[in-house]
Amino acid sequence: AMDEENKRLLYPLGIPDAADPENQIIGKIKQQRNPRVFCKRCYNLMHKNRLPSPNWQDALVGSDTSFLKFLAKKPNSIVLTVVDIFDFPGSLLAHLEQLIGTRTRNIIVANKVDILPKDIHYDRIKNWLAFELNGLGFTNVMDIHLTSAVKNIGVRELVNAIADMRSASDDVYLVGCTNVGKSELMNSFLRTSAVGGWQHKVTASLVPGTTMGMLGLPLSIFNGAFGKTLGVKNYFQVSKHIYDTPGIVNESQLLHLLTHEELKLVIPRTKIKPLSYRIEPGKSIFFGGLGRIDYVYGNVPILFTIFSKIPVHITNIARANEFCDNIANGIQQSVIVPPVGPPERILSFPPMKTVRKRILVDGRHGGISVKDIVFSGVGWASISGTFENAELSVHSAGGKGVFLRHHPL
Ligand code: GDP
Repeated sequence: AMDEENKRLLYPLGIPDAADPENQIIGKIKQQRNPRVFCKRCYNLMHKNRLPSPNWQDALVGSDTSFLKFLAKKPNSIVLTVVDIFDFPGSLLAHLEQLIGTRTRNIIVANKVDILPKDIHYDRIKNWLAFELNGLGFTNVMDIHLTSAVKNIGVRELVNAIADMRSASDDVYLVGCTNVGKSELMNSFLRTSAVGGWQHKVTASLVPGTTMGMLGLPLSIFNGAFGKTLGVKNYFQVSKHIYDTPGIVNESQLLHLLTHEELKLVIPRTKIKPLSYRIEPGKSIFFGGLGRIDYVYGNVPILFTIFSKIPVHITNIARANEFCDNIANGIQQSVIVPPVGPPERILSFPPMKTVRKRILVDGRHGGISVKDIVFSGVGWASISGTFENAELSVHSAGGKGVFLRHHPL
């Protein structure tokens, strides 16, 4: 039996209605020795990778982060703040420290490192993240870990670090936006700890916003198992929990504009291969229909290295303007995807809005990258070359999800 406190923690958004057919257990599937039990929602996610509702955006939890305030009252907790390294800082909860206070220990877990190009060194990424987090006002980060939940990279190191700082009475919370990989990380913890193969699995999916309540797993699952696999002591005590909190919908993320089919075109599944383009002044680069960078003014070509899975399209600024005007005027055109689908889809897609009219970049020191322009969740352009005082402008679908990084990845 769950006491009231536990119930409140497990379901900060309210206890699921058992009468709701979506929440009813629909079956047990025998897997190895352990039967698996699913509710309809999880079953649909696993087998169809989508929610039963055709319009999954209706099912999103909402962007209210206030429920995380309860963490401020639990200063013994360890918070694992999960971010998607491919969507940084877009996937970072900007005001997290205000919510959880500075007495709570916060570890940043930068997940999905498996998709970064292979020549980016982890130490460099960590230093870069520390620098960026500082610049974003995070003053209370205890540690930064790079992980890949799907490839089990860095997970043991993370678990050991938690074990080192954790005393027997401390809970651990996974916190982050939707789609950063919290559920997958939970699975990775379970995988690392399960003796004799998989014993539990948390539903992870491509669809943002699908961890509906807070999921608690006893930390005792780590007992002994980690001791065996890692050769470390039994750090985790019975009855304390590791919680996967509901993902927070970050309205600024561009991925929320996309359908399931379109997400497949955008979310990288394997290492991204950076592609460099020498761009002349007067040219425009489209990141599908989601983002656009114009090289408005300058004397020499600039090198744009694109880190994205999305098809880029390079054209003259005049043509780019014409294209965007046509869309805004309801004239349907093809080529630039996503959006993909019937004319209704293309025409109802949020048109490009100017986000930064004038960005000055200066590459007079040559060679090294001077700036990254990031389209949240879609990728980024790293700008380099030898040039002085060039001027760029940036547009994005609905004017969302654009970030500038001064010290590029
Ligand atoms: P959550 O909403 O934070 O719980 O995110 P999920 O665990 O459901 O993961 C969201 C999506 O990201 C799923 O498609 C996962 O397979 C994918 N994902 C999670 N972790 C990783 C990772 O380490 N690498 C890659 N490439 N994809 C990941």
